[in-house]
Amino acid sequence: MSRQYETVIGLEVHVELATKTKIFCGCSTAFGGAPNTHTCPVCTGMPGSLPVLNKQVVEYAMAVGLATNCQIHQFCKFDRKNYFYPDNPQNYQISQLYLPICHDGGIEIETSAGKKVIGIHEIHMEEDAGKLIHDEWEDCTLVDYNRSGVPLIEIVSEPDMRSAEEVIAYLDKLRLIVQYLGASDCKLQEGSMRADVNLSVREAGAKEFGTRTEMKNLNSFKAIGRAIEGERARQIELLEEGKKVIQETRRWDDNKEYSYPMRSKEDAHDYRYFPDPDLVPVIISDEWLQEVRDRQPELRTEKLERYKKEFDIPAYDADILTGSKRLADLFEETTALCGKPKKVSNWLMGETLRLLKEEGKEPEDLSFTPQHLASLIELLDAGTINQTVAKEVFEKIYYEDVDPQVYVEEHGLKMVNDDNLLRTVVEGVIAANPQSVADYKGGKEKALGFLVGQTMKQMKGKANPGAVNKMLKELL
Ligand SMILES: [Zn+2]
Repeated sequence: MSRQYETVIGLEVHVELATKTKIFCGCSTAFGGAPNTHTCPVCTGMPGSLPVLNKQVVEYAMAVGLATNCQIHQFCKFDRKNYFYPDNPQNYQISQLYLPICHDGGIEIETSAGKKVIGIHEIHMEEDAGKLIHDEWEDCTLVDYNRSGVPLIEIVSEPDMRSAEEVIAYLDKLRLIVQYLGASDCKLQEGSMRADVNLSVREAGAKEFGTRTEMKNLNSFKAIGRAIEGERARQIELLEEGKKVIQETRRWDDNKEYSYPMRSKEDAHDYRYFPDPDLVPVIISDEWLQEVRDRQPELRTEKLERYKKEFDIPAYDADILTGSKRLADLFEETTALCGKPKKVSNWLMGETLRLLKEEGKEPEDLSFTPQHLASLIELLDAGTINQTVAKEVFEKIYYEDVDPQVYVEEHGLKMVNDDNLLRTVVEGVIAANPQSVADYKGGKEKALGFLVGQTMKQMKGKANPGAVNKMLKELL
């Protein structure tokens, strides 16, 4: 390829808000539930039903706007986006076009190329649609309206990103901000955070943007990275062949690593937007805005700085721990209980992350209580249990959130500190393994490890490894 190309990327990120009820009715937003059980006349679009705005949605939208350095429209309105689709029972979606709640913000990202600000064009509030379930066996399609009316904010970036690395850094930062605010759990896999990628290419140095396509159906950071590389290559190939890129929406198939056209991309005028006559404008007073501003929690950047000053843990640990709201909360709550930050960090960075990885889960899925981890650390420090037993008990805490005190008691896992018993066992082990004894005396250090292992086995893992070592060396 002789010509150099630049990729231009903008993102539309949908975030499902963590409200208990839907945006315009009192139905539950809980994930799962039997189909069509979280529904009422409002969220199934029955004629004559009237929407009532959920105040919490406005507060979450304001909080995200403030945290992403946006201006807040203190007078904002809802508009109807008209289109027909079976998952949209009203035949319109209530959204915001003319006066979205937040506008003109931006967040700083950091990549291998350094720091850069990605602009945020606007954030608007809207309702989610239902879900179509295609039944391949019965050859029919069913619709579940449980998700219909679940509140969303759509965060629209400026076309400021130039690579997959920048896109992922932006998404990661955005996800952490929203999670820290408690506005959403932002799980890509479950769809509580969804990203549509608008991408075009142009010759390096060109002023005008090329024709863009929009890619949907991206449910992991890895898929987003691959989709960007794939679509960039496809568009460059078209241009190199002298063909044109068509403005359209494409669906990325991550298994085939290729995108397929879904429909030609609509412009705003295709939806015949107009102000929703059922909803009054939202007026945000200075006082209300200030209240939300005052309630803003400590965000990641500040927390990271504080951890480095306040806790004696490596910078690497602080970075990983603050990289997830759930991990940071667990770390702080457990440390507050036991006062041993380094040990808490070790359990979280080691065993916890190992088990999460094994299960393919995210820290946000963790469900054990800080009390139980703190109590485990204390049992270990007091010499009540040894390291091996502690690991075993930790798995029980991780999966079932057992109380370690009770568990250790009930399963007889306390460390045995009986020197006479230990002496008898060690003597037996020495008598039963003459070859290993000879090896050890002949200078093979490894043989000692074997004898320690045999002793621990006979003591059912509950001996103090230090004491076993000492006793063996003494008697050999
Ligand atoms: Zn409802």
